This record gives sequence, C-alpha cells and structure tokens, in this order.
Amino acid sequence: GGTTAHGFDCSNMSPVNRWNGCPYSQRYYDMLQKRTRLPVWHQKREFLKALKDNQVLIIAGETGSGKTTQIPQFVLETIDVESAYKHKRFMVVCTQPHRLAAMSVSCRVAQEMDVTIGEEVGYSVRLDDLISDKTVLMYLTDGMLLREAINDPLLWRYKVIILDEANERSLATDVLLGVLKGVLKKRHDLKLVVISETHKAKKFQNYFFGAPLIKVPGRLHPVEIFYTQEPERDYLEAAIRTVVQIHMCEPPGGILVFLTGEQEIEDACHKITKEVSNMGDEVGPVKVVPLYSTLTPLMLNKIYEPPPSPLTKDGLAGRKIVVSTNIAETSFSIDDIVYVIDPGFAKQKVYNPRVRVESSFVSPISKASAHLRSGCVGRTQRGKCFRLYTEKSFKNDLQPKTYPEILRSNIAHTVLTLKKLGIDDLIHFDFMDPPAPEALMRALEVLNYLGALDDNGNLTKLGEILSEFPLDPHIGKMLVASSKFNCSNEILSISAMLSVPNCFVQPGKAQKASVDKAKARFRHIDGDHLTLLNVYHAYKQNNEDESWCSENFVNYRALKFADNVRHQLACIMIRLNLKLCSTDLNNRDYYTNIRKALLAGYFMQVAHLESKGHYLTMKDNLVVHLHPSNCLDHKPEWVIYNECVLTSKLFIQTVTDVRGQWLVEIAPHYYDLDNFPQCEAKQLLKKIYKKKVETRNKTR
Ligand code: ADP
Ligand code: MG
Repeated sequence: GGTTAHGFDCSNMSPVNRWNGCPYSQRYYDMLQKRTRLPVWHQKREFLKALKDNQVLIIAGETGSGKTTQIPQFVLETIDVESAYKHKRFMVVCTQPHRLAAMSVSCRVAQEMDVTIGEEVGYSVRLDDLISDKTVLMYLTDGMLLREAINDPLLWRYKVIILDEANERSLATDVLLGVLKGVLKKRHDLKLVVISETHKAKKFQNYFFGAPLIKVPGRLHPVEIFYTQEPERDYLEAAIRTVVQIHMCEPPGGILVFLTGEQEIEDACHKITKEVSNMGDEVGPVKVVPLYSTLTPLMLNKIYEPPPSPLTKDGLAGRKIVVSTNIAETSFSIDDIVYVIDPGFAKQKVYNPRVRVESSFVSPISKASAHLRSGCVGRTQRGKCFRLYTEKSFKNDLQPKTYPEILRSNIAHTVLTLKKLGIDDLIHFDFMDPPAPEALMRALEVLNYLGALDDNGNLTKLGEILSEFPLDPHIGKMLVASSKFNCSNEILSISAMLSVPNCFVQPGKAQKASVDKAKARFRHIDGDHLTLLNVYHAYKQNNEDESWCSENFVNYRALKFADNVRHQLACIMIRLNLKLCSTDLNNRDYYTNIRKALLAGYFMQVAHLESKGHYLTMKDNLVVHLHPSNCLDHKPEWVIYNECVLTSKLFIQTVTDVRGQWLVEIAPHYYDLDNFPQCEAKQLLKKIYKKKVETRNKTR
C-alpha cells in the first residue's frame, strides 16, 4: 500500500480481488495508476450517484477519456458479488458497434480487473464468444444484444445495460434504442447508460425524456489543422507522401492515417515501409500497423505498442504509423499519436430501396467525421491534423453529418428481428430516425417473397427459422432450401465463404499475373459461387495449411474465419432440425442441385442477357454488366448475383449461371407474369410456362 508517486492512495484498498478472491498482481496496480489519470476517473462519484438516482443516464466525452473501459467497471462497483452469482441475472453488459472493439476491449478490461478473459469478464460477438457462468461483465456487439432480446424480451439477465458509441448510430443500436425504451417501461429495476460523443448527446437526452447528462471533460492540448492549397488528385498517393514528409521533418510522435478499406490499407502499409527503407539511415525506423475490422484482437494489440527503438545508440528516433479505416475515429484511442492525416474519404454503405441495391462506395466524409478524426490527437500533447483537401472544400462540400445506418441500409433482416420481437406495427415503432417508408415497404415485400411473412405481414414458420440465422434472410432461405436440394453441406460452405469478402490475397500489380494463375486453379466455369466452394474444399484438403494458402494467394485468415462461420451455421442448422447432406460428387446433379439451392435464396437477384449484349435485372430492369472478376468462361443467358457494385458502370458481382426453367420451378410466385414489366425475359418466361403446361398435358 502507501501513496504512489502520482499521489494515488491505495492504502485503504483491499489487497484481494473481490471477483476471484486472488491477491492483486503488480500489473494491476500499474494499470490502476494509469486508469486514475483518465478524465472519467474524476467523475466516478458523480456518475455513481446519478446512476443510483436515475433509470437512464447519458455520458458524453471525447475519444480516449476512458468511457468504454472504465464506466462498466464503475457500474460493477454497485453490484454485490454474492447476489451476482446467486441470481445469475445481474450482469452488466456493454454494447459495441464493432466486433473487433468488443473483443479487444474486453481483453483490456479483464487485465485491468486482474481476471482471466472469458471468466469474470467476457465477450460475445456474431459467431464467436468467450464467456462462462462466472461472467459478470460482458462486452458484446449491439447486434448480439438485439438477438438476445428475441429470446428474452425483457432482458432479465441484465441489471445495467451500457450502449456504447451510440453516436455511431449503427443499425442494431438504433433498433435497440427503440426496443430498450419499451423494456425500461416494463422493468423499473433495469438501468440504461448511453455513451455518446459530445455533439450528439443532446439528441439522446431528448429521446430518453430528458435523461441527465454527464459530460466528461475533453482534450487538454491544442490541435493545429492544416489544409492543402489545391485539391489532391490521388488521395492515396497524397497520404503516403504526407506520411513520409512528417517522418522526415517533424519531431517524434505517432502518425494515424485514415484510409478506406482493408486492401488499400495493406497496400499503403507496404508502400510506406518500402519508401522509408529506401531512404536508408537518413530517417529513423518505422513500425507500420494496419487497423481494420477483420483483424484479430491479437493483431490489433500492435497499435498500442511503443514505436521502434533507434537503430543505433545515437540514431534517429523511431516512429509508429497506424493506417486505419474510420474505425479509429471513435472505437480505438491510441495515446501516443501526435499527427493525423485525413484524406477526407471513407467507405460508406448506401442502399437504394427502389432497385434493392446495397453497395459500398468510397465517398467524402462528413464534417462531423472530420472533427472526430482531428480529435484523435491532442490528448496527451499538442497535435497536428493534416486534411488533404482545401479549407474551401471543408466548408462548402462536406455534409454536416453522416446519416445513420438505418437510413442507408437494406433493413430486411432488421424487420424480421422486430417481427420476431413481437413488434408488429413498424410504422409507429419509436425509431430515433425512422427509415424511409419506401425502404420499409421494400423490406416487407422481400420478406413476403421469401415466405418469411404472410400476406398480412405476420411471421410465418419459415420466418421464425430465418430469424435464427444471423445473416441476410436470402442466405437463410438458401440454407433452408439446400436440405431439400440435397446439398446443405455445400451451401453451408458457400454461405460461409460469402461472409468473408476477401478470400484471395491481392498483392501489387507486379504479381497480378501469378495471382490470376493461382485463381484459375480454383475456377469453376459455371460461376463464382462454385469457385468459392472449390477454394474452401482445397483449403480443407490441404489441411488448412497456412503456407499452402500463401503459395496459392488464398487469404489464410479469411478462410480460417469462414471455416469458423461454417461451423456456427452448421450448429444452427442442426438445432433447427435441418438436414446436413450432400449429393454424391459423381452424380451429374451435384452442381445442378447446388445451383438450384442458390437460386432458391437469390431468385430476386437474377439478371438476363439481352440481345444487345448487356444484362437486365429482373423486374427492376436495370442495365448491369458482369464484373470483370467473374470466372465464367461464357456469358450465360440467366445469372444470379450476390451484389451490385457501382463504379464506372453498374456491375453484378459473384455470379452463377442458372436456367430459365428453374426460375419458373423454384419461384413461380415471383416470376408471375401478370406482374412483370415488359422485357425480353418476359417473352422467354412465357414460352417456358407454355412448354411446362404442354408437357404436363402430355403426361396426363
Ligand atoms: P473512450 O471510450 O473514452 O474513447 P477508452 O476507455 O477506450 O476511452 O480508453 C481509455 C484509455 O485506455 C486510452 O488511453 C486507451 O489508449 C487505453 N487503452 C484501451 N485499450 C487498450 C489496450 N488494449 N492497450 C493499451 N491501452 C489501451
Ligand atoms: Mg469508447
């Protein structure tokens, strides 16, 4: 005990950890000392009093003030160990919009509490969890809490629910807000803490009937902002150039660069490392670290490591350079960052309900986002933010804020979840920002075509089943159908592969030829879905070997994840009594069955090859083109596609050849010609229907 150098008095503390009865380790005290210096620490008493007196509480503060790691621990102080273990239902949960954040923060907090991760502190994210019956604090994704509400509508297991990063307004958070508002009315013993970024706090206060707000004081040090004189032609090249300049000319301190996606970030990391090493000993060594959502928590830890040491005793100082997606705007705070580079772009999801196209675009960020980015420095010392756009552009071109996800998404799965929660009147559901009526209607229509909702909008038996899959309902439908088409083992693998976007490594231009050659080995001429299946099978046949993956330009991490997803999905199928089966590989229907099962899920995503040489999507009549990445050796008359992407043209990606006859066999309710716009496909379908009637009459 005694008073430490920082004036922190631990003499009156129990030396025994009340959660597991073990004496505290030295690391615990070291970490505690750092924790007491976080801004929120000084508001602990105020927070605990407000929590006692109110059912809902809003906390607002800048990134890095200690909200995510400390607030849940403060809440735990109000919980009695005995009763926590006896009643099993007095758990504290903290939601996160990003699975990576939920996993890594829980590990950090387990360390701070001096307990083993997965025991007293755990996490639960889609398709992965680490909890035990001792768990008293759980970090989980907002989507997982929503799923729990399905089985336990009043969330009886929880005593305090903390909605973290509510300002991010993820789809699941928005739905949870509405659901929790209802639960709070029925459970007076339940408490809710909403954590938000400062500027958005007011809106949450209003939504929760003027709940009190606790503001955590922000940054202490000034941040200098620089703009470019002229617009940059190539933001990526400009970002890399700026990194190198800072490294050459500016005093020590970490750099954080915002880019848009995994591949771009990996490429940039390579380029930065290479350029710096080309400069030899004119500059200090660098440690370049990527940060994006599909990293593992272990890989993520690198962002918190110190910069590399100088190469020689009197050598130049080393520097840490983190290259991240916008996940670093609020989810992760890195203390030793002094310079931020903001090229002004992010990948954003956009959904057009009229044509049912959801796509990710690289688009300009909002002013709010730019503020968050510049706020990533200045916490521990003065900082600099380099915006790679002009000041005029910042003032005139950037939108004031980013629209919540619910206004930009395909909400079919959300609607299914709400129906399962027993919320039938979606029009009057208390959304903080209600989705557009058109998006809602579209979702209801899609679910009706899939057979998840009946004509009165009620959940069907199939709808109940589809809501059990943490996936887009189309994929759920495909899985359900696959048992009947005798290929559920294969459809499981394809579904898992579809949930990992980058199964091939995409190195620089130099290696493109060898990558294409490697890809060709897995190619199935009837379509990309079957190619994905080949990749998965090859991975398993080669014993999930990492070096086999790198030799074949297959992304080992992606495959490993897909395999895990597959396992989880298989468990759900077994639980739902859906048969796991395969057609014999030598049977000539092996691939036909798989293609039919694919169609059973994706019959609303079909395009037809028109006589002019382009494709037209069914019913919406959009002109689309096969994405150049496809592996077909021909242009099939009919294709199903997994997604539409808009770049120079509207492309359909991940496509597979299907037959016109199957459309009529598998989805006659959708291919109902009375409700079909004029197009070449309609004429063809007419003929197919006619032929079908004729053969039926003949066989009679
Ligand atoms: P907020 O939620 O207010 O943004 P956090 O609670 O996430 O703040 O972070 C508080 C502090 O803990 C920050 O200084 C951050 O850098 C540090 N921190 C969080 N996770 C880790 C980790 N895994 N390793 C080292 N430091 C961490
Ligand atoms: Mg946080």
